[in-house]
Amino acid sequence: MPYTSPVSDIRFILDHVVPFEQVTGTERYSEATADMVSAILTEAGRLSDEVLAPLNRVGDENPARLENGVVRTSPGFDEAFRAIAEGGWIGLTADPEYGGMGLPVALGTPITDMMSGACLALQLNPLLTQGQIEALEAHGSDALKQLYLPKLISGEWSGTMNLTEPQAGSDVGALRTKAEPNGDGTYAISGQKIFITWGDADFMANVCHLVLARLPDAAPGTKGISLFLVPKFLPDDDGNPGERNDLRVVSLEHK
Ligand SMILES: Cc1cc2nc3c(=O)[nH]c(=O)nc-3n(C[C@H](O)[C@H](O)[C@H](O)COP(=O)(O)OP(=O)(O)OC[C@H]3O[C@@H](n4cnc5c(N)ncnc54)[C@H](O)[C@@H]3O)c2cc1C
Repeated sequence: MPYTSPVSDIRFILDHVVPFEQVTGTERYSEATADMVSAILTEAGRLSDEVLAPLNRVGDENPARLENGVVRTSPGFDEAFRAIAEGGWIGLTADPEYGGMGLPVALGTPITDMMSGACLALQLNPLLTQGQIEALEAHGSDALKQLYLPKLISGEWSGTMNLTEPQAGSDVGALRTKAEPNGDGTYAISGQKIFITWGDADFMANVCHLVLARLPDAAPGTKGISLFLVPKFLPDDDGNPGERNDLRVVSLEHK
C-alpha cells in the first residue's frame, strides 16, 4: 500500500492546535512565513512518499550485510540519503552559522514524523545525526563545532549514539567502556557497544560516534559517565577523513 504523508493534518495541527504562530511571530523565526512553511511541508511530503516509502520493500528484500568488516547497505538507501541531505533536511533546525536553516523545531518535528512514517530504517540515520548536531551545538567546544557541524549538517558525515553495552541497557549506569587520557587532550576509549543504529554505512565518508564512557576516577553509576566524540576516520589537518580510528563493527542485528 503506498504511503501518503499526512501533510494537511500537520498543517491543521500547526494552524489550529499548537500555537505555531507564537513561534513564527518571534524575531528569531520571522522568516518562517505561512507560505514558506506550506512549501516545506509539501516538499517533505513528496520526498517521504516518492523517495523514502518505496525503500521499505527494498530493505526487507535486501537487508544490510556485513562484508569483511564493511556494512553494505540496502540498494537505494545511498541515493535517498543524498536526497535528504541535498534538500537541507538534516540541518533544517540547525544553527545557520554552521550551514543549518535555523527553522523552528516545531516545524522540524512533524517533518521527522513524516519521514519516519515513510521509512524509519533510513530516517534513523538523519535523526541520529540531528541528535549529534544538537549535542555539539549545546555542549561542544568551538573547535569541535567548527570541524564537525558543517559536515554533519550537510550530510557528508553522519552521527550515532553509543550508550548500550551487553550488560548495560535500561541500566545505562552499568556501562564499563573506559576512557583513558592520552595526555594530549585526547582519550583512548576501549569497550564494546551493541545495538548501535546506523553504526556504519558504506556510503558515508565518515561516521561519528558519540560514546558514553567512564574516566579512570569516575563515580559509579550514571554520575560517572562522560561523553566522547569518536569518528571512524580521524580528521586530518584540513578537516578531511584521515587515519582510520581503531573501532570495528563485529556484527549486525538480524531484523
Ligand atoms: C531498534 C533499536 C535501536 C537501538 N539503537 C540504539 C542506539 O543507536 N544506540 C544505543 O546505545 N542503543 C540502542 N538501542 C539499545 C536500547 O537503548 C536498549 O535496547 C535499551 O536501553 C534496553 O536495553 P536492553 O535491550 O539491554 O534491555 P534490558 O534493559 O535488559 O530490559 C529488558 C526488559 O526488562 C525491563 N526492565 C529493565 N529494567 C527494569 C526495571 N528496573 N524494572 C522493571 N523492568 C525492567 C525492560 O523494560 C525490558 O522489557 C537500540 C535498541 C533497539 C531495539
